[in-house]
Amino acid sequence: MDNVAIINAEDFSTSTQQKSKNTRGIRDPIYVNGDHHSDHEDNHEHHHHHDEDDEYIYTFSLKQMYIDALNLDWSKVLWDMVVAIVVLHSGAVYGLFLTITGQIKVFSMIFTVLMAIISGLGVTMGVHRLWSHRSYKASLPVRLALMGLNCVAFQQSILIWSQDHRVHHKWSDTDRDLTNSRRGFFFAHMGWKMYKTHPEVIKGRKMVNIDDLLSDPVVLFQHKYFPWISVPLAFILPTIIPYYCWNEDLLFSFVTCGLLRLTITHHVTNCINSVAHLYGYKPYDKTLHAHDHNVLGPLALGEGWHNYHHAFPRDYRASEMDGWCFNLTTKIIETLAKFGLTYDLVTVSDDIINKRAARTGNPDERRHPRREVAGSAQPSPQ
Ligand SMILES: [Zn+2]
Ligand SMILES: [Zn+2]
Repeated sequence: MDNVAIINAEDFSTSTQQKSKNTRGIRDPIYVNGDHHSDHEDNHEHHHHHDEDDEYIYTFSLKQMYIDALNLDWSKVLWDMVVAIVVLHSGAVYGLFLTITGQIKVFSMIFTVLMAIISGLGVTMGVHRLWSHRSYKASLPVRLALMGLNCVAFQQSILIWSQDHRVHHKWSDTDRDLTNSRRGFFFAHMGWKMYKTHPEVIKGRKMVNIDDLLSDPVVLFQHKYFPWISVPLAFILPTIIPYYCWNEDLLFSFVTCGLLRLTITHHVTNCINSVAHLYGYKPYDKTLHAHDHNVLGPLALGEGWHNYHHAFPRDYRASEMDGWCFNLTTKIIETLAKFGLTYDLVTVSDDIINKRAARTGNPDERRHPRREVAGSAQPSPQ
């Protein structure tokens, strides 16, 4: 591929993450570790518990969730977000009921799935791989399309999402990480949306560089007019298309093509922070909390191979996994590159991946069909 740039291993120096003061396995949702440690104590702790920290294993426990709920500082709960999330899920459950009982039209079901995938690309290909990581460049029409799709997914503005994501990579699974998986599955998944942001996260936001985002007019435009663009694109358009095009009931269309579709894309995105940060394989770097996950990989359009992604965050492929099914986002970036619509795709050489996996990962756990197919090709019969 002409547009691929191989960049240096030095650019991928994430194995020694810079860590903020860490909860170190303490899963109390309250900011236990605020400023209790002196620097000396912190170093001391680093020294003695480093191995233990690397081997941090999360076990799902209802009892622990109950204890967490009891210890929750209710004054830090954002009740407006709780209400919004409850309303959204109520609508989505009704949409799911209509779908299961066959009360909505088949076209509406297909439309819902297609919209979930296409708007998902606004997250994976857009705000994640393009804007957060700059793993490739895109022409203006592609950027505008991705910005629109990002609005359909209705997460946050590209500017805010990318800033938080850069903080997530720099200080993964520490207090400074907005979706810190050490605070339990629920917090990493969606609890963070309903709970006062940790002061360390706010500090982190000020420390990451977002000059590139601030100089992108598409990003600034979306941020400035976010509610005005995203509400029509996320709620109104997906509701009226089925209504006008195939006479779907307006309410049915709203709860299914609007709310259910939105809820599904949100939960798949959230799973990257919860499931992929707690379960799966670590082929490339055992010290990271991010895992490769076989179900989430394809489900998240190629984003669930998260150990690879945290090991090599600037690789536009976000995984060694290839193919339309396993890594849809990568395939679309590559297809558009053939027409010059995406370019300067950043990737890592196989040599660097091999060395990194051997040095810091569990190389036996690598799964990459592309190379397995190539490696296991039968010799052609004479
Ligand atoms: Zn992550
Ligand atoms: Zn990322």
